[in-house]
Amino acid sequence: MTTQKKTNRRTFISDTVKGGLAVSVGLSAAAPLLQSFSERQSYVPGNFKTGFDQQPLPYEYNALENIVDAMTMEIHYTKHAAGYSKNVKDAAVAEKVDMTKPLEEVLVKISSYSTKMRNNAGGHYNHEMFWQSMRPKKENNAPSGKLMECIVKDFTSFEYFKKQFGDAAKTRFGSGWAWLYTNKNKKLLIGSTPNQDNPLMDISDIKGMPILGIDVWEHAYYLKYQNKRAEYVDNWWQVVNWDTVSNRFDQL
Ligand code: MN
Repeated sequence: MTTQKKTNRRTFISDTVKGGLAVSVGLSAAAPLLQSFSERQSYVPGNFKTGFDQQPLPYEYNALENIVDAMTMEIHYTKHAAGYSKNVKDAAVAEKVDMTKPLEEVLVKISSYSTKMRNNAGGHYNHEMFWQSMRPKKENNAPSGKLMECIVKDFTSFEYFKKQFGDAAKTRFGSGWAWLYTNKNKKLLIGSTPNQDNPLMDISDIKGMPILGIDVWEHAYYLKYQNKRAEYVDNWWQVVNWDTVSNRFDQL
């Protein structure tokens, strides 16, 4: 580790502690950052309107080859994700949810619904966002503009942000997701959730608006990477679509 990086890390820890983190264990490399209690607020993201139907994949199944293989992409999209979409609609009928309203409205009150709704509303929402958050791989793939400025402000550097997000993804025990999300004040935060939960849900330990998520269920990587989740996570940065992520951030 270089002196510069050490300094950045110390500055980061110092700022984060000043920011009111209740538990500092989240700062170790082995655990994702924890959100302070005062930051843990649900909010309804008015600009975001996700529907209940599965949208077309924005690229071919083989478009992310070498990072995400075509067979994984096809099974993931046509079986796993399509299943969540079908099941969330079944749950919506059974629980009298108006499907002309955005899914976000259900997610922020998910404690009022069944476990079937929680799993499938989350599953559908998370995957719809996941497909849009990727594109064919790019050299030196990084965000620009306002999002990059805020990443540097909130995490000290893009590299340190990737390290923290990667740690959250690699250390999520079992199935789940790691997230880049924002609180009401548009501060960027990193965390992870189990199963198909996400930070919009009122039952989540971390709360805010997700702008980027990585699926770390084994179905997302096992055919190509087997048990090597860390390799999948490290490779995945090459296919992140920073344009759509920035667009989500700009809409907040
Ligand atoms: Mn998945």
